[in-house]
Amino acid sequence: MHDARADQDYPSTNLVSHELGQHWFGDYVQGRDWANIWLNEGFATYLEALYTQHQEGNDAYRFAIYNDQLAEQQEDRDSYRRPIVYTDAMDMFDRTTHEKGAAVLDMLRYLLDGAEAASHPASQNELFFQALRHYLIEHRAQSADTADLIEPCGQLPGKNWVGFSTNGYFGPDVRTTWLRPATTPQPRRRRSASCKSKQAIEKRPSSTCR
Ligand SMILES: [Zn+2]
Repeated sequence: MHDARADQDYPSTNLVSHELGQHWFGDYVQGRDWANIWLNEGFATYLEALYTQHQEGNDAYRFAIYNDQLAEQQEDRDSYRRPIVYTDAMDMFDRTTHEKGAAVLDMLRYLLDGAEAASHPASQNELFFQALRHYLIEHRAQSADTADLIEPCGQLPGKNWVGFSTNGYFGPDVRTTWLRPATTPQPRRRRSASCKSKQAIEKRPSSTCR
């Protein structure tokens, strides 16, 4: 998107991989409602990291996920905390939707396939990507919600979500736990950082508002 000289300082790689990812997670399968917007944006942000792993290796992938975690933790610390699936339209395009969504997908990949498998570029040998393929085929040209993604993963052979069903991330109660507002109201100290300041905070030169 930039000329060769500018691209050295402001590479478009993450933006392009993000938007290409959105063809699948967003266009091909659409989040059922605004509350499930992370199925578009969390995936697109995660696909930035996956392309980084493909292009630059595992250390760069882990660094991308680390930055996603840092960005969301800063929002949690300085602004507010909310569930990923949430119905407040004013907060939907924030770091919880984008960066925390990506970090949770990385966690799901780790849970299904372990650190060793996840230290290599994406492959259909991994249960995680087999599950994503199933999700895309099952809901192609339709909408899906978070339970449509998570529940089949918990039913894979040898996988159970006992630990996560009790703390409310995954499991049969996903429809209520992910949709439920935070049990303890969190003080709203200020709005999210603007997109411009967000880029400065993240220190990811190719980060973009999206
Ligand atoms: Zn996006």
